[in-house]
Amino acid sequence: MTEIPSNQHITYQLQYRKCGKASCSTCRNTQGHGPYWYAYWRQGSRLRSGYIGKVRSPHGQKPAAAKAAKPKKSARAIKSEEYTTAARM
Ligand SMILES: [Zn+2]
Repeated sequence: MTEIPSNQHITYQLQYRKCGKASCSTCRNTQGHGPYWYAYWRQGSRLRSGYIGKVRSPHGQKPAAAKAAKPKKSARAIKSEEYTTAARM
């Protein structure tokens, strides 16, 4: 796996990838597997890229941890928002 440098300007992009298997129905019927996050940066005059995964995670943070923490937060945010709206009415 390519290491993504922390001292560079990184561009993140969501992309689909084809696995190349002739028997894969996902690649045949859709744009491919994904979308997955890819990082792009410049190293000298060369454009480098690195695979990140389904969840975009900054420096060293594991995608699984970010995934587990997200739903709880957003659910709580929606609840409090609904409560505020109801209280105003
Ligand atoms: Zn495939």
